[in-house]
Amino acid sequence: MNSQEPIESGAVLDWYHRHGRHDLPWQQDTTPYRVWVSEIMLQQTQVSTVIDYYQRFMDRFPDVQSLASAPLDEVLHLWTGLGYYARARNLHKTAQAVCEQHDGQFPSDIEALIALPGIGRSTAGAILALAMGKRGVILDGNVKRVLCRYYAINSWSGESRTLAQLWQIAEDITPHNQVAAYTQAMMDLGATLCTRSKPDCPRCPLQTGCQARLLDMTAVLPVSKPKKTLPQKQTLMILYYQDATSVMLQQRQATGLWGGLWSLPECEDDAALVDWLQRYGGERVGQWPVLRHTFSHFHLDITPVLVRAGDPDRCLDSAGTLWYPLDHSVKLGLAAPVKKLLDRLASYQNEYLLT
Ligand code: SF4
Repeated sequence: MNSQEPIESGAVLDWYHRHGRHDLPWQQDTTPYRVWVSEIMLQQTQVSTVIDYYQRFMDRFPDVQSLASAPLDEVLHLWTGLGYYARARNLHKTAQAVCEQHDGQFPSDIEALIALPGIGRSTAGAILALAMGKRGVILDGNVKRVLCRYYAINSWSGESRTLAQLWQIAEDITPHNQVAAYTQAMMDLGATLCTRSKPDCPRCPLQTGCQARLLDMTAVLPVSKPKKTLPQKQTLMILYYQDATSVMLQQRQATGLWGGLWSLPECEDDAALVDWLQRYGGERVGQWPVLRHTFSHFHLDITPVLVRAGDPDRCLDSAGTLWYPLDHSVKLGLAAPVKKLLDRLASYQNEYLLT
């Protein structure tokens, strides 16, 4: 660490009281439940995207009990489009654990919070600080960026030594008073001033001590994750439509990629598709251009194949298969590319082939 002066929480708090965000939905009627849901949604997702999802989620699940007793399909349905679906599955599991093991109240010590599915150290710190008025320490993506720049940390924050160093700094600089305001202030600083591509240093309360600014290194800090070429995988997704309004979906296994979501039937290649058609019947009528979906660890190149169904009853030969209405009137969790293909199919239905 190159910095001489630690971040001074007073300057951060002054800035927050004058310029921070005070009207985000999860800042109103603050409860551990509301803060927890917002923190999980905000992982890997921007505030502007999260707000609508959050409000719909809260309308349907206003408290931990309503979430715990809901079918997982409905939770996944409200999560459709947010990605990283393990977050939604863990949300559901944790709601049930809070109801069954903690009488419907979130525990107020960090170890018990971290023991709940999907709650890491930073999320637990945010719940403690923002919703319980306790001294919780956070280190989310925004805070990491601010600290890496302020202290000119020149290694990637995903390396364990760097991460440990960042946690130590975060612990050291978190004040004992006004922890909720300080926590929100650091998040806001990272989200609104110390942004990845254009940090607004002239307006930043940390500018006089910030090493990245003083050394003219804001463009290279924080250090990015080392790039590696992602492998590519291919699949055929079968848009198997019965009539002008419905398409066959199958539920994926509970764990793994898109776990528990409903998806289109898939085949590895054309030969496998021939076998599939022999089993289910139907007529292949065309295909669409390849749609690429990128996961954190590989690219998936999807070839959408259009098949007019044969006998509809023959298709529903196993549990976890259904005819899904293209108007989305049935509430199921769908993977983002599947939703995209279904919307496209719905918009094509009158023009093309769904007769
Ligand atoms: S001075 Fe600039 S680089 Fe440093 S913390 Fe503030 S906004 Fe970020």
